[in-house]
Amino acid sequence: MITGAAKIAGVVGWPVAHSLSPLIHNAWIEALGLDAVYIPFAVAPDAFDSFLDGLRGTNVCGLNVTLPHKLRAHDLADELGVAAMTSRAANTLVFRPDRTIHADNTDGDGLRWALMQGHERNWKAQQRPVVLLGAGGAARGAIDALAERGASEVRVVARRLAAAEQLAAGWNGFVTAHDFDRLNVACEGAAAVVNATSAGLNGLGDLPEISAAPNDAVFMDMVYRPLKTSFLRRAVAHGHPTVDGLEMLIGQAAQSFFAFFGVFPPQHVDVRTLCLRALGEA
Ligand code: NDP
Repeated sequence: MITGAAKIAGVVGWPVAHSLSPLIHNAWIEALGLDAVYIPFAVAPDAFDSFLDGLRGTNVCGLNVTLPHKLRAHDLADELGVAAMTSRAANTLVFRPDRTIHADNTDGDGLRWALMQGHERNWKAQQRPVVLLGAGGAARGAIDALAERGASEVRVVARRLAAAEQLAAGWNGFVTAHDFDRLNVACEGAAAVVNATSAGLNGLGDLPEISAAPNDAVFMDMVYRPLKTSFLRRAVAHGHPTVDGLEMLIGQAAQSFFAFFGVFPPQHVDVRTLCLRALGEA
């Protein structure tokens, strides 16, 4: 039931119609019987600043932020959580009663969740290197999660070496930068290879073949549209265990849900199946 005292949360993007977040959050809200609702907001880039400003001091308690607004959301917030600071991008905004906006980034939590829930419960890198493809916002947010999962080193491989080098700066050797030409060399000995590029999204763009990763290396793709990307299909063909991007999406949503409503989502709700149906993958 939604009363006049309902808490309102939502996702803001441009476009936003493809977002699975309303499906996920509203399933959890319903299961918990919360007086709340989660709404998609389609907001063009030139309207984003005034949109956010207009929500200060209203009954909107929080927003997820998707493309192309993640950087601007980070810049406009009054206060940044550690993950938003590290990634320089925000996917979760909490509107406080004093009209201030707190920004954070739960993508790293989502990645950690996906690696822990994926092919092996509580998976750890066991002090082996992890290869991270891409040097955008999602890659920046992934590094803490990979450190927490026991990576000895994060090898960032990007088509623009300068972007990878920028990401590696300040990590004291824990993050190293590599050119795409050296992708297979970077994969030697890796415990996992994580695709944080948008290559493969909607079947567009592709990544080079990887043949040098050890057989037990986990291949994880952040892209979940399609669910079985060519990156993951090739990994399966090479005999690697795989984790898809939907696990990460659900993991980041769970942390955002807690930030908005102060409770964790109920475990018994099978939001993965709901999402698979919406993606036409069930
Ligand atoms: P950004 O636009 O910030 O970064 C994209 C990165 O991908 C850049 O490094 C870009 O390189 C690189 N890239 C794009 N196309 C190619 C290509 N064909 N070959 C090599 N590199 C390429 O996006 P985000 O970091 O925010 O997101 C990356 C992906 O992760 C997206 O597909 C997004 O949907 C997904 N994602 C999934 C989440 C989940 O919950 N599953 C959460 C967050 C993101 P360059 O700078 O040279 O253009």
